[in-house]
Amino acid sequence: MFDYLVVGAGLFGAVFAHEAIKRGKKVLVIDKRNHVAGNVYTENVGGINVHKYGAHIFHTSNKEVWDYVQQFAEFNRYTNSPIACYKDELYNLPFNMNTFSRMWNIKTPAEAKAKIDEQRAEALAALNGREPANLEEQALSLVGRDIYEKLIKGYTEKQWGRKCTELPAFIIKRLPVRFVYDNNYFNDKYQGIPVGGYTQIVEKMLEGAEVRLGVDFFKERESLVVSAKKVVFTGMIDEFYGYRFGELEYRTLRFETEDLPQENYQGNAVVNYTEAEIPYTRIIEHKHFEFGCQGGVATDHTVVTREYPAAWKHGDEPYYPMNDEKNNALFAQYKALAESEKNVIFGGRLGMYKYFDMHHVIAEALACAKKEVW
Ligand code: FAD
Ligand code: UDP
Repeated sequence: MFDYLVVGAGLFGAVFAHEAIKRGKKVLVIDKRNHVAGNVYTENVGGINVHKYGAHIFHTSNKEVWDYVQQFAEFNRYTNSPIACYKDELYNLPFNMNTFSRMWNIKTPAEAKAKIDEQRAEALAALNGREPANLEEQALSLVGRDIYEKLIKGYTEKQWGRKCTELPAFIIKRLPVRFVYDNNYFNDKYQGIPVGGYTQIVEKMLEGAEVRLGVDFFKERESLVVSAKKVVFTGMIDEFYGYRFGELEYRTLRFETEDLPQENYQGNAVVNYTEAEIPYTRIIEHKHFEFGCQGGVATDHTVVTREYPAAWKHGDEPYYPMNDEKNNALFAQYKALAESEKNVIFGGRLGMYKYFDMHHVIAEALACAKKEVW
């Protein structure tokens, strides 16, 4: 008999399992995939750590979380600074003095502010003091029309499959706007990539657990549930309840990966393609997350991945929850059911239906473990 059955060997499940095992609990972890680590899984391809489910950059201002992950890997000093490509024009992201100077041929912060104020005026007047009601209003009132049209609209509509006028404003609030020449994509205190990839972190977290891969909870539900006192479920909460209130919406991605016989393809880990006409949102060149030389060994080939967003349907991986009003209201119904469960805990991006980053998921899992096993 196990104390816990953890469904999903992603970060939430692994952190919870680790904390439970540390305190003498017996833990069974299952995952329907044939590997651990969920979406942070990295695989070594000819000396390059490939982020199989999209680029993963660790960033946080939460010192407890940062200190916590250091015990499982050494993190390098990688700072995410994506390039945006719009019709062959290249811009630095996030929106900062490098972006503004390229966009408007200006030099000083005062010139940039004046230009942005001029660009935002129309949107601010239309808002007339109220909060932006959708992503388009949010973007136009933050950075104005030029940046919105060239760097936001096409990318966002590809990514989410909806018009910016039909998307929640919070999606874009994640992006900083800075009046300094600083291409760091994040505002967080700590940032880096684990040297040697993410998979080793989860493998270490799961030491001492019984791990069964290629096991879908829903195919063996009855026998699995009786094998443990409690279940920690990190899959889709609507699936857990047989979609009884309806299906939550997700976005999925198709990854197209190529191993190229050249040393350096695009000179940066992340290049975003922001125009609507190009069907992918970004190209990742994995070796640049570890400065082109994993473990001190340079490679003469390179691995690149194009990300094509798509609407989720059954059988696809549900990468992004759609946290708009309609879906959040539906989730609230499932959450009410979840709260009445005595022996099931829901966690992670799919169990809590929230657009969490890794550091959020770790913080949530630690909070959950504190309640359960500390
Ligand atoms: P997951 O990693 O999804 O793990 C859940 C696991 O449960 C999966 O392995 C799944 O196979 C398994 N499972 C589901 N249903 C079942 C079932 N029925 N039976 C058995 N197993 C099941 N965060 C950052 O901090 N920085 C980034 O740069 C970043 N980039 C991202 C890029 C992309 C493309 C995506 C999709 C996410 C990104 N994230 C990033 C977010 C990050 O991936 C998540 O916060 C984190 O991986 C979530 O962990 P989790 O354990 O909740 O979920
Ligand atoms: N975004 C954009 N242009 C870009 C990059 C991002 O408009 O070049 C917007 C887009 O709406 C996206 C959001 O900013 O969904 C958040 O971007 P981020 O890179 O943080 O998303 P993630 O890594 O989670 O896909």
